[in-house]
Amino acid sequence: MDDIDFECTACGKCCHDLRLPLTLAEASDWLARGGQMELICEAIPWPAEPEPGNAQASYKRARSTPAMSGSLPVRVSVILVAAFAGACPNLRADMLCGIYDERPLVCRIYPAEINPFVSLTPENKACPVEAWQRKPLQRQGVLVDETTRRWIEESRRATELEAPLRMRLCQELAVTHAALANEGFVIHAPESSALRTALERIGATPDARDASPQWTFMSNRGVTVETLLSVGAGVCLDEPASPRNFRYHGFFEASPA
Ligand code: SF4
Ligand code: SF4
Repeated sequence: MDDIDFECTACGKCCHDLRLPLTLAEASDWLARGGQMELICEAIPWPAEPEPGNAQASYKRARSTPAMSGSLPVRVSVILVAAFAGACPNLRADMLCGIYDERPLVCRIYPAEINPFVSLTPENKACPVEAWQRKPLQRQGVLVDETTRRWIEESRRATELEAPLRMRLCQELAVTHAALANEGFVIHAPESSALRTALERIGATPDARDASPQWTFMSNRGVTVETLLSVGAGVCLDEPASPRNFRYHGFFEASPA
């Protein structure tokens, strides 16, 4: 659908049960308000640079950081997310945002898409049917509102510019496990105080960290583990019973090694 109309009904549905991707500054503000944050990590084997003109690969590259897994070059994507079950801690009883003027970019942009390779599809959004009418949101696939377009640009730019800082954050927190991209996520949930300290440190100290840090893939599928091992990667099978301070969320059913 190229032409889409929309007017928010203030139903509050999009402010529940979320992992909201935040910029580093937004993450510091979220923690200062007492909110919880997580780091969502995935990695892509990157044995060679892609052919020029591969727009999707360039997009992924710009948002990730080089690393090694065993002897395999990879790129690691880390997303800092505000995580909450149920209502957002900033959602008021009248279903309006309690921090409206300081709300994160991602909240300002919704229901538009940040990823240029994802089309805006009303069926994939939390908004009720009656919200998709009245005001022009998109014409011939292009967002009508200039301000929303600017916020999207700002969000994309921050995600790109802050990729090396998110890697440093992981190093500060000893976060080294990632899922294979498109197969799942590894979710790290550090203590808020530790995350706050790490955020302060990456802004204040010169970067003396390893430029090619070692990461370990995690998977719940034996075939993935075997394939990654065969190309020299460091990899482990998700074993939910083992003690650790992160968890694996797979998109596919677990299969044994
Ligand atoms: S910060 Fe505001 S707009 Fe964003 S999810 Fe929370 S209540 Fe909703
Ligand atoms: S779900 Fe859609 S209609 Fe409801 S508050 Fe969020 S943006 Fe507005």
